[in-house]
Amino acid sequence: MHGSRTETLWRRLAADGVRRTPQREAILEALDGADGGLAMPTLLARGRRRAPGLGERTAERTVALLVDRGAVDVIARPDGGTVYRLCGRGHHHHLVCGVCGAVAELGDCGVADWAVAQAERRGFVVDGHELTVHGTCAACRALTQARAQAS
Ligand SMILES: [Zn+2]
Ligand SMILES: [Zn+2]
Ligand SMILES: [Zn+2]
Repeated sequence: MHGSRTETLWRRLAADGVRRTPQREAILEALDGADGGLAMPTLLARGRRRAPGLGERTAERTVALLVDRGAVDVIARPDGGTVYRLCGRGHHHHLVCGVCGAVAELGDCGVADWAVAQAERRGFVVDGHELTVHGTCAACRALTQARAQAS
């Protein structure tokens, strides 16, 4: 199932001078298999399933490299933690679950028009914007409801 997205990514990274190693492959495949994004301890554990000798420093350096090359997104969680996610390449924002930390991708950004209109009134020229949407994901809401019914 997985593979085609990471193959496309590897072609782009190779053109960017990034060498393909089993450790880097393991990190990228682990991220590709996690829709909601992964925190470093989980990413390391899943990466080790594919590359058993994967060290913590190597994993951290690999993630930093992939973030630097724009292949991986870094998302701050409300609790101060960090999640890494393999997202689409287009402009998008993140919806972060405050309970489990899962991250979803929000496309169709409608913020730009609003931001430009607001900024123009203040004489600003807009270069870009950042936005993170916080809330509770469907799985966590279902769990809360099930618990409420059980009690
Ligand atoms: Zn993203
Ligand atoms: Zn959740
Ligand atoms: Zn936007």
